[in-house]
Amino acid sequence: MKIIISMLMLISLQMCSQVKQPQNKEVMENSATKNNPYYSRTDRTKLNVPNSEWRKILSPDLYAIAREADTERPFTGKYNEFDELGDYYCAVCGNHLFRSDAKFSSTCGWPSFFEADKEGTAYKRDSSHGMERIEVVCKRCDSHLGHVFNDGPPPTGTRYCMNSVSLEFVGDSEKK
Ligand SMILES: [Zn+2]
Repeated sequence: MKIIISMLMLISLQMCSQVKQPQNKEVMENSATKNNPYYSRTDRTKLNVPNSEWRKILSPDLYAIAREADTERPFTGKYNEFDELGDYYCAVCGNHLFRSDAKFSSTCGWPSFFEADKEGTAYKRDSSHGMERIEVVCKRCDSHLGHVFNDGPPPTGTRYCMNSVSLEFVGDSEKK
């Protein structure tokens, strides 16, 4: 009897060790979007998902910024000082937003772009905090990305001031 029990324990231990296999690369990199049934880098169909649903899916940081228009502290975002070649997607839904060619080194403390993917972004008037600003949202999922200003560099003179948390970068070298 003791032998059978110890054999069963051995089998269950092996099963545990099988479960703990390393996660695949994509899951590790996209931790904010795992178990997100709405995430797609190819489907641009507009989403209409209530915040009660997003709250279950998104990390607390991403939820606060993307769905409640919070702002990350300046100079803290992972893409503030970052100049790799690739594309930036919506961290909530995977929609394409920016290309690295349009990113410039801004001193404002947030990742900044002089041009956005017109198919990926939309605008809203924002009169909060006693300021008149133009909010930039993801065209597909309506998540808050940041604001746009008219003090950017040539050729557009536009500055898209974005939250790193709302973005997800995929480098050219990672694409097949
Ligand atoms: Zn989105």
